[in-house]
Amino acid sequence: MRLLPALLTASFAALASARCGTRDPSERVHAQHKYFLEKEDREAARIAAARDVFDVTVDTYVHVVISNTTAGINATTLPSQIHEQIDVLNENYLGTGFQFNLVNVSYTHNDKWTAIMDGSTTEYEVKSTLRRGDYTALNLYFGTIGSGILGYATFPDTVTPREFLLDGVVCDPQSLPGGKAPYNLGITAVHETGHWLNLFHTFQPGNDDPAQPGCYGHGDYIHDTPAEAYAAFGCPASRDTCKGAVEANNTLSVPGPDPIHNFMDYTDDRCLTTFSAGQITRMQNSWREERVAYVPMGMRRRSPGGLLPDLKAELGLGLKGKIARPGSGW
Ligand SMILES: [Zn+2]
Repeated sequence: MRLLPALLTASFAALASARCGTRDPSERVHAQHKYFLEKEDREAARIAAARDVFDVTVDTYVHVVISNTTAGINATTLPSQIHEQIDVLNENYLGTGFQFNLVNVSYTHNDKWTAIMDGSTTEYEVKSTLRRGDYTALNLYFGTIGSGILGYATFPDTVTPREFLLDGVVCDPQSLPGGKAPYNLGITAVHETGHWLNLFHTFQPGNDDPAQPGCYGHGDYIHDTPAEAYAAFGCPASRDTCKGAVEANNTLSVPGPDPIHNFMDYTDDRCLTTFSAGQITRMQNSWREERVAYVPMGMRRRSPGGLLPDLKAELGLGLKGKIARPGSGW
């Protein structure tokens, strides 16, 4: 998640805690990623082969939420900006196996919905009113979040009925293509959708050295994104924050300069251009195991790794029959 430029003048310490509105992954989501990492290491060759046939089109519902204080909305250009945003998603997810199909755009004017802050009553009201589709449908909200936050998203997980309603991506309208520089190329939605597909930040803290927390441990649980001490801003020519013994001793990450061009860092839109192969594999595996295989809480048992055991065999049923359909009993 990313903040508007005005906040970039704040101290780094403030930014480090405020810039991303996507919550830190829970213990359960960490356990999930440990499972995925071990599975991907075991099955590297097979997964690489499978990637060629992974071809998913994600049904995408866009919801524009406007209040009397919403900044950055131009009613004349908005519809074309929304379509450009979907184009930007598709261009930047080319090669990942994911494409996005815009099913519907809803426009809602509600002067009580001034700030769709994560965890707020307004967030619940907005999403429980507008959310569409099942757990494989991307609900992409454009509305003011507040506190200068550009976007936030939810990770796929075992969710309660309430959490199911909160699933999705929220972005400030100023992050749309044609919005406010330097976040005006629609990359915020690419970044946040990366979280929604289960990616962490490239600088995700691995453990607790406060000076360079991203240099240690599993970090983002992806092998091929070099460890990165903390988020990068602007668009530096290059940067390398984990060096020497710290880097050499971390066997869980590859050495190298910081992945400042990776969509899951914090640099300016024009600077963010790529997902790594490891991230693509993680998104694909998470799609299969966390979103397609999603079954409402209470109807599944979870393994210690947090993932679906042989549920199909366990139930003696096809999974399809057990997948929740919103609006049918929720
Ligand atoms: Zn983020």
